[in-house]
Amino acid sequence: MEKFISIEDYHRFLALHADGCSQAVAFYLTRIRENSRLNAFLEVFADEASERAAALDEERRSGVTMGKLHGVVVALKDVISYKDHTLTAGSKILSGFKAIYHATVVEKLLAEGAIIIGRNNCDEFAMGSTNENSAYGKVLNARDLTRVPGGSSGGSAVAVQADLCMVSLGSDTGGSVRQPADFCGIVGLKPGYGRISRYGLVAYASSFDQIGIFGRTVPDVARGLEVISGPDECDSTVARTAAIADAAVGANPGSEAGAAGGSAARPGKDSHNRKYRIAYFKEGLAHPGLDPEMRVAILDRLGRWESAGHTVQAIDFKLFDYIVPAYYVLTTAEASSNLARFDGIRYGYRTGSKDLELTEFYKRTRSEGFGREVKRRILLGTFVLSAGYYDAYFTKAQRVRKLLVEHTDLIFKDFDILILPTSPTTAFPVGEKMSDPIAMYLADIYTVYANLTGIPGISLPLFTHTNGMPFGVQAMASRFNELSLLQFSHQMMQQ
Ligand code: GLN
Repeated sequence: MEKFISIEDYHRFLALHADGCSQAVAFYLTRIRENSRLNAFLEVFADEASERAAALDEERRSGVTMGKLHGVVVALKDVISYKDHTLTAGSKILSGFKAIYHATVVEKLLAEGAIIIGRNNCDEFAMGSTNENSAYGKVLNARDLTRVPGGSSGGSAVAVQADLCMVSLGSDTGGSVRQPADFCGIVGLKPGYGRISRYGLVAYASSFDQIGIFGRTVPDVARGLEVISGPDECDSTVARTAAIADAAVGANPGSEAGAAGGSAARPGKDSHNRKYRIAYFKEGLAHPGLDPEMRVAILDRLGRWESAGHTVQAIDFKLFDYIVPAYYVLTTAEASSNLARFDGIRYGYRTGSKDLELTEFYKRTRSEGFGREVKRRILLGTFVLSAGYYDAYFTKAQRVRKLLVEHTDLIFKDFDILILPTSPTTAFPVGEKMSDPIAMYLADIYTVYANLTGIPGISLPLFTHTNGMPFGVQAMASRFNELSLLQFSHQMMQQ
């Protein structure tokens, strides 16, 4: 069986094959087995997925209307609760824990006919940029096994990159969907804050976390968003409006997927020739840390867009150097509080040492159960929240966040799209950044901005570096403007 180039393509295949879902699951199970070296999956639900595929094939035969993700083979980052399935967040502290309810996104996936094939490896509690912080071993980039896939959703990115599933879900608190998508040469969308329910997502930094989607094409990612977004009474931070209105969706012959018609969420035909007002941060493209070849490629592409009739303008962004520090102060503060629940009493790992007094028991459990990076962040977060330093760090970082939000609102009064690189370099060699956490944090310079301000961002795989690795650009739009972001992305991927 040939691989599918898109969901649309797969659905055309299903129309011709009565056992199409079963064939697809068998195909992906074989691919997963053959690529086990990549370590992208922590667990594969082989029997379950095969049974579900057979049931969906049966449904089609009996004429039941197909859901939007009918038979689509999906993998989940191991921070998303799938009832009665192990959930570790890449941490030893949750070893043996089984989810006791479905995340809202899982319910929505299943309701539209998706087949969940397994759970993906990730950095522990989604903290990291290389997937080397997992308690279950690192993930390798399928394009070059000596390089990392990016993080923290590295397993989910590689699962799509290496054709081990059709789409996957990750989480993005500071770039963990966009950056691994960039390193792996696929599409990665982080919707705006409040677009997708976080119910059932293991929390890292709750005012930043968003579930995001990896796919091979923009229409696939758009369809994923259409399914998993929307209001949820279990998460009051979710917006009540739909991410993609049905009216905005239409037939789009000649799309990158070669699609012809259909009712699924795809950036529609009318969007095809729209001219966009595009801005980019001067400081972002001029940054000394940015790989020169990547700078040239991105500026060249911006020039081409301008020649095609879009407005492209470089704008100043004086707050650029404050973005990473503000992000690491605020997210570690939130993490230190969110991770306080892992105490060894209620669930997960508990120390084997006996006869400890309670405080000692907590300390021992947490010291043994958490990995190095997670401990570093809990300590940092506890420090910035401590009475003597609260104002100097936490309050100041909140002020920076507020300024960023205000500034961003102003930018989107004049522009539709903001462009930055996704990452300053292509995928790092395995091990390169592990001994230098600051260097690792600084590599998040282009992605954390969207999480600090709550806007949607997407990484588009447009280029190949002379070192053989893929890279792309990151496009962002104003809050709740995912539709326009996707339409823009769709257009740019076809030029
Ligand atoms: N690399 C960033 C960090 O380590 C992003 C993580 C994420 O988005 N989950 O915090």
